[in-house]
Amino acid sequence: MLTVKDIELSGRRVFVRVDFNVPLYQSGDKSGQITDDARIRRSLPTLEYALANNAKLLVASHLGRPKGKVMPEFSLAPAAKCLGDLIGKKIILTDDCIGSETEGIANSMTPGDVVMLENLRFHSGEQQNDDEFARGLASLCDVYVNDAFAVSHRANASVVAITRHVPDCAAGFLLQKELDYFDQAMTHPERPLAAVVGGAKVSSKLAALENIMRRVDMIMIGGAMANTFLKGSGIDMGQSRVEPELFETAANVMKIAAEKGIRFFLPVDVVAAPALDADAPIQVVPVNKMPEDQMALDIGPATIARYTEALFDAKTVVWNGPMGAFEIKSFAKGTEALVHCIAAIDALTIVGGGDTGVAVHNSGRADDVSYISTGGGAFLALLEGKPLPAVAALVEAEKQHESIN
Ligand code: ADP
Ligand code: MG
Repeated sequence: MLTVKDIELSGRRVFVRVDFNVPLYQSGDKSGQITDDARIRRSLPTLEYALANNAKLLVASHLGRPKGKVMPEFSLAPAAKCLGDLIGKKIILTDDCIGSETEGIANSMTPGDVVMLENLRFHSGEQQNDDEFARGLASLCDVYVNDAFAVSHRANASVVAITRHVPDCAAGFLLQKELDYFDQAMTHPERPLAAVVGGAKVSSKLAALENIMRRVDMIMIGGAMANTFLKGSGIDMGQSRVEPELFETAANVMKIAAEKGIRFFLPVDVVAAPALDADAPIQVVPVNKMPEDQMALDIGPATIARYTEALFDAKTVVWNGPMGAFEIKSFAKGTEALVHCIAAIDALTIVGGGDTGVAVHNSGRADDVSYISTGGGAFLALLEGKPLPAVAALVEAEKQHESIN
């Protein structure tokens, strides 16, 4: 796979697919403004590199779920404004991401110009990976760069089909960095390698768990997912959220871990409450003393002590999924303790998952972990060991290019 540095950009129309799917205020006097511009800032290395190399820059993204229709509330205008402020340039936003008017704009650009294309998902062809739509995008440019890791697990036209129609295709710095960190952590890790897995459901992470088991030395399980493992091994979990259809699967995962000599950690105590509610009274109980009318909503202090002690030995840690219902303060201690632990240890530490990333940011320790992935679904797909369609498309594009030259 080529990276943006391998390609001549000077004087050429360079199409960069970014992830500007930023959160917007939904109401109040700031309605429609960006609440967090992190995704835009993380694309700057690639965009600024292209501009420094004299490119005519076309920036493309989706925003929200307009489902193939033009919906003004999903316009990329706020993102174009934000990007313009960040790079100190005036940015033209097109009315449509394809079409003759947009082609006219692209053809009249001079090096250093920045044009932002309107929301790709205003066309249903984007998510259908439609070849005709991809041709429309391709006709705007001479060089294609994918810097949108967060959508690279999806076969969408702007990350897959487009690569068949642009002569020069490459990965941007952010996409490259995501893949490099993941590779360092999971493919060539310094050992011991620990995986911390939590979150809402076993079902959404089962494929990832099964793949992880082929590589890790230890696994710590938390979140609601731990309930299914505990209940599956015969422990009464009261009213806790569980997935009964996965009790057997969970038991099997633990059996495989034992066979492989993987240290498999489950909570030994939990924070229990009668309801997932900020005002609910809480108590810490050992897992074998769960009250019948309560649910487990966070890992307890004895579990925190065991997990952090084991993690201090790790040289590489991959974390996906919060340890509890951390959005409510009474159930956030386990997740916060894990954040502070991985921020403190001398190891390569990678965090993935939308909610887990939020938890690390909330704790103010984002700068103290090695890497926080920008992809939720894409990161999970990597954990599952699946090839990302957009990355496969770039690899294929390079092969095609070699065979032509
Ligand atoms: P990520 O987005 O990092 O991949 P998930 O989406 O899988 O993580 O899980 C995060 C969600 O799981 C959070 O909304 C959190 O409140 C919930 N959660 C974690 N532990 C529990 C629990 N014990 N009971 C109920 N919900 C939980
Ligand atoms: Mg989530």
